[in-house]
Amino acid sequence: MTPKIFQKKILLWFDLNGRKNLPWQIETTAYRTWLSEIMLQQTQVTTVIPYFNRFIQTFPTIKSLAEAPLDLVLQHWAGLGYYARARNLHKTSIIINNNKGEFPSDLEGLMALPGIGRSTAGAILSIAFNKSHPILDGNVRRVLARYYAISGWTGNSKISHELWKISTRLTPVQRCADYTQAMMDLGATLCTRSKPRCDDCPIKSGCLARIEDKIKQLPTPKPAKSLVAKNIIFVIFTDQNQKILLEKRPTIGIWGGLWSLPEFDAMADIEILCKQKNITIKAMTKLDKQRHTFSHYHLDYTPIKVEIENPINNVMEANQSVWYKLDQINSLGLASPIKRLLQNQ
Ligand code: SF4
Repeated sequence: MTPKIFQKKILLWFDLNGRKNLPWQIETTAYRTWLSEIMLQQTQVTTVIPYFNRFIQTFPTIKSLAEAPLDLVLQHWAGLGYYARARNLHKTSIIINNNKGEFPSDLEGLMALPGIGRSTAGAILSIAFNKSHPILDGNVRRVLARYYAISGWTGNSKISHELWKISTRLTPVQRCADYTQAMMDLGATLCTRSKPRCDDCPIKSGCLARIEDKIKQLPTPKPAKSLVAKNIIFVIFTDQNQKILLEKRPTIGIWGGLWSLPEFDAMADIEILCKQKNITIKAMTKLDKQRHTFSHYHLDYTPIKVEIENPINNVMEANQSVWYKLDQINSLGLASPIKRLLQNQ
């Protein structure tokens, strides 16, 4: 199938079946496109929609996002995961706001901004600026790897290079915004990971994975690596007013900049800290160990409830810790496992 025929089939399918009423499509601006593209990385459309709506309501413009405290941004992101995305979003909004609020409209300018890679930049250029640029997000990688029956993990640099070349060749000059959206939609709705609906696919006649009966094997999964497990203790310090001590995590590292529970390596460390700070422990209760898996390791955490008696301002660094009532925690940017843990108290 020539690129022209491929594009024609994709665009015809998009006209009839593509998604055209997603919240970020109702009014297409560089800001809204960028925000949606960042949210959609690693996250499905149905999950993103309520986050996008809430986010845009609180931060309707790039200026409002740039001027907001990072805490508020993280609070609106809490639950979406991969928090570096939110921190980069904030950093980028400040850079753009300082640049008279104008988005760069070229590939280099966009890719120089924190958190914007080649595919996201291509999507912003195509969708918001109507400039023909290829994309290669997870959905497009899957479609192209299947259509051309390319084996090998698509994150591998050689395979990735090959897919970029194909995506560049196939991207049309005319209607590039619709084509970009169509390819993302096709991957998300038809050429899905586990049960692709090939019978409804507009490019099925040329799909090599289908012809060669290789759909189940493609795209080749990422080589499995065994994840190490890290063991820690999260302490739920509770004071006499039933408030809970939360502390802010460093901006770099897991759950960067979010509120979490004080973390310890061993039970003895809790007692040592309380002794040093003259804090009297009324009771200690060990809860069931739980696991949260990140892309690079398992976090096995044991929550321990520690009821204390004394005035508590001196437990941690003042501006890095707060005492919160349980019913107030929804207003904070908390890591999801911590939020769930506290909601069950
Ligand atoms: S025919 Fe099936 S496997 Fe091939 S691109 Fe279409 S949906 Fe994907």
